[in-house]
Amino acid sequence: MTGQGPVRGVLTGVGVSPGVGLGPVHLLAHEIPEPPAGSRHGGDAAAERARALEALEHVAIDLEARGAKAGGEAQDVLEAQAMMARDPGLADGIGELVADGVAAERAVYESFGRFRELLAGAGGYLAARVADLDDIRDRTIALLSGLPMPGVPTDAAEPFVLIARDLAPADTAVLSRDVVAAFVTEEGGPTSHTAILARALGVPAVVACSGVTAVAAGTRVLVDGASGSVRLSPSEEEVAVARNAAAARAALLSAATGPGMTADGHLVPLLANIGGPGDLAAAVANGAEGVGLYRTEFLFLDRATPPSAQEQEDAYRTVLDAFPGGRVVVRTLDAGADKPLAFLPPPGEEPNAALGERGLRLFRVHPEVMDAQLGALARAAAGSRAKLQVMAPMVATRAEAEWFAEACRTAGLPEAGIMIEIPAAALRAADLAQVVDFFSIGTNDLAQYAFAADRQLGALAGLQDPWQPALLDLVHAAASAARAGGKTCGVCGEAAADPVLACVLVGLGVSSLSMGAPALPAVRATLARHSQEQCHLAAQAARGAATAEEARAAARAHLPGLADLSL
Ligand code: PEP
Ligand code: MG
Repeated sequence: MTGQGPVRGVLTGVGVSPGVGLGPVHLLAHEIPEPPAGSRHGGDAAAERARALEALEHVAIDLEARGAKAGGEAQDVLEAQAMMARDPGLADGIGELVADGVAAERAVYESFGRFRELLAGAGGYLAARVADLDDIRDRTIALLSGLPMPGVPTDAAEPFVLIARDLAPADTAVLSRDVVAAFVTEEGGPTSHTAILARALGVPAVVACSGVTAVAAGTRVLVDGASGSVRLSPSEEEVAVARNAAAARAALLSAATGPGMTADGHLVPLLANIGGPGDLAAAVANGAEGVGLYRTEFLFLDRATPPSAQEQEDAYRTVLDAFPGGRVVVRTLDAGADKPLAFLPPPGEEPNAALGERGLRLFRVHPEVMDAQLGALARAAAGSRAKLQVMAPMVATRAEAEWFAEACRTAGLPEAGIMIEIPAAALRAADLAQVVDFFSIGTNDLAQYAFAADRQLGALAGLQDPWQPALLDLVHAAASAARAGGKTCGVCGEAAADPVLACVLVGLGVSSLSMGAPALPAVRATLARHSQEQCHLAAQAARGAATAEEARAAARAHLPGLADLSL
């Protein structure tokens, strides 16, 4: 990956965070060479051990500092990584090896190796943390051996386009527009953790871009995070066209304010997806009318025990207080699969965690965790001026929905809903609407389960495309059943953040849209340019198409206001 790759042409991936970025390519070097086996230290074991542990502590402090700078969900992830770096088991392993004469670099490598095997073998939650562990190991070895730190340089002369096979949380957390003009990865899908964080940071991003890591370092590239194109060595004219379009679009976006509505005044509340109180400022700044998805698992992430009742209550109250008069939809813990929690592992071995005991299913096993969470929510809502709605993830059947709604009522929570993210729930939405107060469609998991395509696999990004007509059919089924049953039906999956698709979702009968805060202005401006009838026609046309690509084109033909916004 050093300067041999193509210098002209256009590569295409999946645009996951809109905006235009221009800059020289910086290839993310993750590979730190393995310290040679058999390398020995000079004899002072105590000094060598101290050298290794100081490096680990330095890495932990650096991760925490990156977290503090990033805030929000990223901070939680990085603090968890810092905790891993301070694991006493790792330190003990290093101490034993160094006592046997092994050099600090090699001792770190081997001690992490043992941990790595344990994690990888454990599957599920623990296996998913192997990348985080490798990142800590590489940073520590780089420090010990005086090699450049892997990851993103923070002192570059101009913003660069970061290209990588994939990005660790430590990398994405420092991606602000001051440092990074855009990022592009070979791997990752539109709903991967990386893509969600990129959108939260407002940095243009393209994932699943085949061949991009072969682009020569230093090549200037123009990244369009909406269309997914990566233009190598663009001409002055191409850059000017892209920049003008982006500037015009930014001006139009900032002009659209107020509640979400179509051109003919049909109200569509625009809400924010948050991971915790740290995301509230961006939500308010982007004009969110409330919270449509509070992913509470971030409060529980990487802890050996659940947060105390008081800690939960405080976090929920902070969120409610940010939207007096607005609505706040809190999702109960969605533990398991891509959101594993240390203290709530699946009860048995799970060869396929995405199809295992996750989400609401884990509450069946640990009802005390659900009751504690519902109790904290009820106490936080008492006296609040916001309207609290609580919903459960991963509901498949009416019996599950009924059980959850009953638990909410027992806890004194008046509004209980469910996420529609399993095809069975979408197909039988009429049944489910009888026992809950509202639906919120999670298009990320709904696509994963409808297409049997792991949402974390870049190679299957095409099947995760929320424009797939089959997915639109499922959304239509759920929204229609909700309407017939007199219930509301929002969308809180990443599909809602695509301004064109947002119009289609409204046309399918969806009543509110919730998304990462930076996506709100574009969705607001796009809705404001189209009537409900145009949205309806666009939705019909999209459902009548045979492929995702055709659905996009068919919908766009009914949405003439897109050109104004360079969409
Ligand atoms: C979804 O599945 O679409 C969703 C919103 O939930 P999450 O991405 O947290 O699984
Ligand atoms: Mg989900």
